[in-house]
Parts: sequence; C-alpha cells; structure tokens
Amino acid sequence: MFQEDVYQSIQKDLARYPKAKLIAVSKKKPLADILKAHQKGLEHFGENYVQELIAKQEELSSRHGPPLKWHFIGHLQSNKAKEIVGKVDLIHSVDRLSLAEEISKQAQKKAIEQAILLQINISGESSKSGCSPQELENLVQKVINLKGIQLKGLMTIGSPSESIITRELEFEKMNQLLESLNQNFFSSHPLTELSMGMTDDYKLALEKGATLIRVGRALFGERD
Ligand SMILES: *Cc1c(COP(=O)(O)O)cnc(C)c1O
Repeated sequence: MFQEDVYQSIQKDLARYPKAKLIAVSKKKPLADILKAHQKGLEHFGENYVQELIAKQEELSSRHGPPLKWHFIGHLQSNKAKEIVGKVDLIHSVDRLSLAEEISKQAQKKAIEQAILLQINISGESSKSGCSPQELENLVQKVINLKGIQLKGLMTIGSPSESIITRELEFEKMNQLLESLNQNFFSSHPLTELSMGMTDDYKLALEKGATLIRVGRALFGERD
C-alpha cells in the first residue's frame, strides 16, 4: 500500500535539496499502488525487472492524464536491452561496455537517444555488479564515443550491512568520482546525476549530493 505520510515526509527532506528527485521503486508492487502514488504527485518510478516493467507500461498505455516517468534500476542482460531502450527515461544500471554498446545499437535503430548512468561498485564487494572506480575512466572514454547514448552521471547501491560510517564514505567517494570525471572529461558540460540512497539511507545520500534517491519499502511497504 502507498504510504502517503512517508511520501510527505520525504518531500519535506527533499525541499532542502532543490536538485534532488525522488524515484518511487515499485518493483513487485501492483499497478494500483503506483497509480495511487502518481495521483498524490509522484512522477518518477523505478523498476528492476524488464518483463514487469513492460507489463506495467502496457497496462497503463490506454490511460489518460500526465505520463509516468520510468527508470530502469535492475541488473540488465544485454539481450533484454532492446525491450527497454526508448521506453524509460533513464537506465541507471549500465555497468559494462558490452551493455552500453547494445543500448547504443538499439537506440540508433530506433533513432533516439537513451539517457544512462554508469553503475559503480563502490564497496568493492565481488558479489556486487558495477564498474570498479579504477575502471571507470576507461569505460567512460569508450561510452562517450557511442552514438545514441546520453551519459548523465553515476549510480551505486551501498553495501547493505555496512555501518553508517562506511556508507557515508561510499557516498562521499561517489561524489568525488563524479567530480573528477567532470574535471577530466566533461568540463564544458558536466554530468549532473548521482543516483544513490534507498529506504535506509536516503537522508545521508542527500547530504552527500545525491540527485536521484530510489526509495521502495518506505513508500510501498515491505516486498514479499
Ligand atoms: C529495490 C531497490 C531499491 C529500493 O530499495 P528499498 O530498500 O526498498 O528502498 C533501490 N535501488 C535498487 C537498485 C533496488 O534494487
């Protein structure tokens, strides 16, 4: 169920950060919850699974009224990229060159530009997807030459069980990574987006410069 009181309190937190936006993470939640949230003013929705996203978009296709903006935030297999290119405002989870190349190919086929973020494995845990901070500049140099792709910034998922201090350092590192990319590659058109912070740590992420917070459980309740 959509928690309107939580939404209002997040809105209050966000008022102090004019550049930051809330993405309501609606994976595994029914369309009714999404529509309720949209009715109350939420514009941006995040989904993790290609089939689920497409099914929800199809169900909504005959609906009138202001459109929803979709963000793909889950792990994306290259062979599924064609199903979402052009259908989402932003793909947050681009973590390797082969995926960026496939998105580029599909975007050119559709004659569109797809906005993306590069996902960083900031904690360095081998179980996490994401490009390592050390490989980032190399990846960026290749991605900026791909047609049909608009690189907007960086995304990370914090390590779940870590202490608040570790998390704070991770978010600070993300901020520094974006800054150094901007100095080295994008000084005339800096990248603007930093997607980090979820239910348990979005306030900290905002303090550390997040521009997109991805909140699921707090807004929609626990997932089964
Ligand atoms: C599920 C998910 C979220 C939302 O997490 P909550 O803890 O429910 O707020 C955010 N980002 C990603 C990448 C997710 O998979």
